[in-house]
Amino acid sequence: MQMSDQLVYLNGEFMPLSEARVPVLDRGFIFGDGIYEVIPVYGKRLFRLDEHLDRLNNSLDATRIPNPYPESEWKKILSQLVMKNEAEDQSVYLQVTRGVAKRDHAFPEKVTPTVFMMSNPLIVTSEEAFNKGVAAITLDDIRWQYCNIKAITLLPNILLRQTAIDEGAQEAILVRGGEVTEGSASNIFIVIDGVIKTPPKSSRLLPGITRDLIVELAQKNNLKCIEANFSRTELEAADEIWLTSSMKEVMPIVKLNDEPVGDSKPGQITRQMFNIFQEYKAELKRDLD
Ligand code: PMP
Repeated sequence: MQMSDQLVYLNGEFMPLSEARVPVLDRGFIFGDGIYEVIPVYGKRLFRLDEHLDRLNNSLDATRIPNPYPESEWKKILSQLVMKNEAEDQSVYLQVTRGVAKRDHAFPEKVTPTVFMMSNPLIVTSEEAFNKGVAAITLDDIRWQYCNIKAITLLPNILLRQTAIDEGAQEAILVRGGEVTEGSASNIFIVIDGVIKTPPKSSRLLPGITRDLIVELAQKNNLKCIEANFSRTELEAADEIWLTSSMKEVMPIVKLNDEPVGDSKPGQITRQMFNIFQEYKAELKRDLD
């Protein structure tokens, strides 16, 4: 099957990607008026699905887009989509926009949300990619004040990420009011004197599903992990730094603002966390088999 002919879901139907069409007056296209989720799939099983559906619900509530489906329907469509795609490990993208209406900022009176879902093969962080790590730079967080909403309106994130790439780095670490918030598409963890720190959940950052799992796994494995704000200076002085996201899982930052982090290799606690995460996934797979 050609890439463009993968089966996607649009408004109640499965169809080849090449046939999926949305009217130009869709408010997602006109205003970026919509929200999304990205759900990893391991061994054809949707990972942390309840948590992803909870966050989807929160994003819909916050944007006052009515939830188009009950939870059971979401689960049914999502598992159908996964089964219709070949890869064992996938990354499901789903998007809900407010729908199609005459262009006007105010909410349209009668409108049906547009629902789109697609799934692509998931390329997880290999041991090799982990060992290499990534470079990051710090940038001012130019985004809005509701970063907890997973909105499709991603222009600031895109500009920030591109600035990082233009400077030879892979991710931008964002700083607001002197405090580190998150990456342009990831959450952040640091290690100082053996203590793991990540900023607490607030409207300044996306409540990452991977972030929550890492906090949970760190505590379960008796690693000291606290949710507390830290400054750019603390970040720059950290012994270890890593990013989390559904796509990157646990990714070490080995260079920050052109300076080495630790000895320019993934730190010991970062490696431990990566291994704990891999073991957690393997266990889940064993349980489900
Ligand atoms: N923050 C931002 C801004 C993101 O875009 C993402 C990835 N979608 C994350 C954090 C990580 O979230 P998750 O672990 O749920 O993928």
